[in-house]
Amino acid sequence: MRHPVGTAAGTHLERPVIYVEVRADGGAGWGECAALADGTAVDPPLERLWQDLTGKVVGRVAAAAAARGGRLPPSPQVRSLFNADPAGRLAAAAIEMALLDLELRAAGRSLAEHLGGVVDGAGVPVGAVVGIPPGHRVGDVVAAVDGLFEAGYRRVRVKIEPGFDVAPLSAVRRAHPELALQADANGAYRWGASGLEDARRLAGLDPLGLSCLEQPLPAPDLPSHAELAAVLETPVCLDESLGSHRSLVDAIRYGACEVACLKPARLGGVAAARQAQALCQASGVPAFVGGFFETGLARVANAAVATLPGFTMAGDLGAPAGYLEVDPCPYPVVRAGRLHLPTAPGVGGWPDPAVLARFGLATVWIPAQG
Ligand code: MG
Repeated sequence: MRHPVGTAAGTHLERPVIYVEVRADGGAGWGECAALADGTAVDPPLERLWQDLTGKVVGRVAAAAAARGGRLPPSPQVRSLFNADPAGRLAAAAIEMALLDLELRAAGRSLAEHLGGVVDGAGVPVGAVVGIPPGHRVGDVVAAVDGLFEAGYRRVRVKIEPGFDVAPLSAVRRAHPELALQADANGAYRWGASGLEDARRLAGLDPLGLSCLEQPLPAPDLPSHAELAAVLETPVCLDESLGSHRSLVDAIRYGACEVACLKPARLGGVAAARQAQALCQASGVPAFVGGFFETGLARVANAAVATLPGFTMAGDLGAPAGYLEVDPCPYPVVRAGRLHLPTAPGVGGWPDPAVLARFGLATVWIPAQG
């Protein structure tokens, strides 16, 4: 990471990444695994995905191909090959991306064309994220938002935690009355008898006109999120709680999800994200694409996904160069808070071999059987 990014659930210091390359007759495709070094409260860490991807996962894809006479399974079927658990969904998303890239390159189409989303001439709107600064100084948050505002961003998400919430957000709001401002608590607050002080703090955000308050409470607790949503004026957004289509269905039904932060990788990939945004659209729940500090490959895929009609709010699509010291993949220039999607065939640009040679830690090449 270019700078440590503080959240209520821990600080991101390094961003190791796993890429998957699939080679088949007539071409290759690349995918990126979203797993973070330390994982999150609900997402397994990178080491687990490395074990899975280099172990059973590739074997499963190879077996599926063998059962089809040697032809790889089409990308929309990939999810059905994996367990419906967090590690299975992250692995499926990485493999799906590689197969989709292969398919799109063979077909001569970009991911945006394939998805058929709507892009206005000004480009895809991009949201930015500001972490909790190491010294917990309000002025550092305001300065970071000032910089983003000057660069043209009009939606900024600020990380908060109990005790560092009303003060920084009030200061940002005073400086930027028109900004679409969101807070992201990464599940750090408590509700009920043990959370009276937290409830008071969260109610203190109501006068600030936030677009939403993201994941105030721990992920599994949908009923408490529904109660909180009923008492707060600020719309409650879920992120970590939305680990599967089932959880999204439940969260919307219970009134726990007034805004949805959908992460394609956590849901199982592009096809899963498309299904989730369709449900949000049908349910009248505004949604945006969330990020995992991806490199350019997965982030450009997220930017294409963000053009689907259910994504009514700007997603976490800021350039990886803003948070990574080295991005091995190309990413479109973000200008005035917007970007233009690449039109070349495939999901996105592949990692630069020179960067991989310089920084790569390990490569495992698994030949198909038979
Ligand atoms: Mg979040």
